[in-house]
Amino acid sequence: MHLAILLSLGLIPLVICAPQYGTPPEDHEHPQDPPGPDLIQYDGTDANAYADYHINDWAEGAVTEYPIHNSCNGSEAALLRKALYEAEVLAAHARDHILRWGSSSSHYKKYFGSAATVEPSGWYNKIVNGDKGGVLFRCDNIDGNCVLDGWAGHWRGENATGETVICPLSYTARWPLAGMCMYGYEVSSHEYTSYFASDIHHRLFHMPAVGEYTVDHYAEGYRAALELAVDHPEDAVRNTESLAFFALEVYAYDIAVPGEGCPGSLAEAPVEEEEEAAAPTPSSSSAEAIPASTTSAAPAECHTHSDGEVHCT
Ligand SMILES: [Zn+2]
Repeated sequence: MHLAILLSLGLIPLVICAPQYGTPPEDHEHPQDPPGPDLIQYDGTDANAYADYHINDWAEGAVTEYPIHNSCNGSEAALLRKALYEAEVLAAHARDHILRWGSSSSHYKKYFGSAATVEPSGWYNKIVNGDKGGVLFRCDNIDGNCVLDGWAGHWRGENATGETVICPLSYTARWPLAGMCMYGYEVSSHEYTSYFASDIHHRLFHMPAVGEYTVDHYAEGYRAALELAVDHPEDAVRNTESLAFFALEVYAYDIAVPGEGCPGSLAEAPVEEEEEAAAPTPSSSSAEAIPASTTSAAPAECHTHSDGEVHCT
C-alpha cells in the first residue's frame, strides 16, 4: 500500500507506536525479582513509607498546645484551655472561608480590600497549625495590672514579650463562641475582644512568636478598620482588629446564623473618642453615630503596647 494511503488511514502511527506498549525486553542485569526485606515498595497509599525506612523526627520538640503557666489553678486552666480551643476554631473557619471564596467574598473585600488572600489566611493558619511554643499564658498578677479597673488581661510587653496575663475578669466577662450573635452582639458595635476566642487572637498576635512583630494595631475601631481596607489593604491584612472583625463576621455568617450573621452596620459603630475630639464642629454625618449598647458590651480592657503605651478599648 502506498505510504500516503497508510498515513491517511492512520495506520503508520499505530504500527510505529505499537511496540512501545508491548512487553519490555527482559533485563538480565536488573531482573524483576520480588523486593528484598530491606526494600520498600510504594503502593500509592502508604504516605508514611519513609517511617519504615529510617527514623528522622524533623519536628522533634514541637509544641502542639499553647502553654499555660502553673500559676493558673485547675478551673482557670480548664477555662483557658477551652478559650484557646475556641480561638483555634474561630481562626480555622476564617482561614477556610478565605481558602474557599478568596477575594470574591464580600466579607473579605469589606475587611481586607484588594490585598492578596495568602497573608490573612496564613495568620489564621498559624494560630491553628503553627508551633505553639514561644508563648505563655499565665494567671498570676505578676505585673500588678489586674487590680486596675476594667483590666481583663494584658500582654507583658517589655517585661516578657512572649507572655500574657489573663486576669480573673476574663473568665466572667468574655463570651463563649457558642454564644455567637447572642447577648445583643453585633460585629460593628461591640469590642472585638467581647468573645474569649477573638480576645485570644489579639493576645497571640501581640506575642512575637505568633505576630512576628508584623501583626499590630494599624487602626483602632470598626470604622478605622473599614477605612484601612480601602486606603491601605496591605496594612489591613496585618491589622489586629481587621483580622478579628473578619473572623467573627464570617463565623457568625457561615456557622452561627447561616446566611445572616450579625454584622451590624457602620451607622451603629461607635465613633472613636479621638475622632470626636478632633472634629471642630458637629458634621451632618455624625448624627448617624449611635453609641454602642452599654447593657451587654464586654468591659473596657487595657493592655500595654511595645512602646510602653497603655491601650484601653
Ligand atoms: Zn493590643
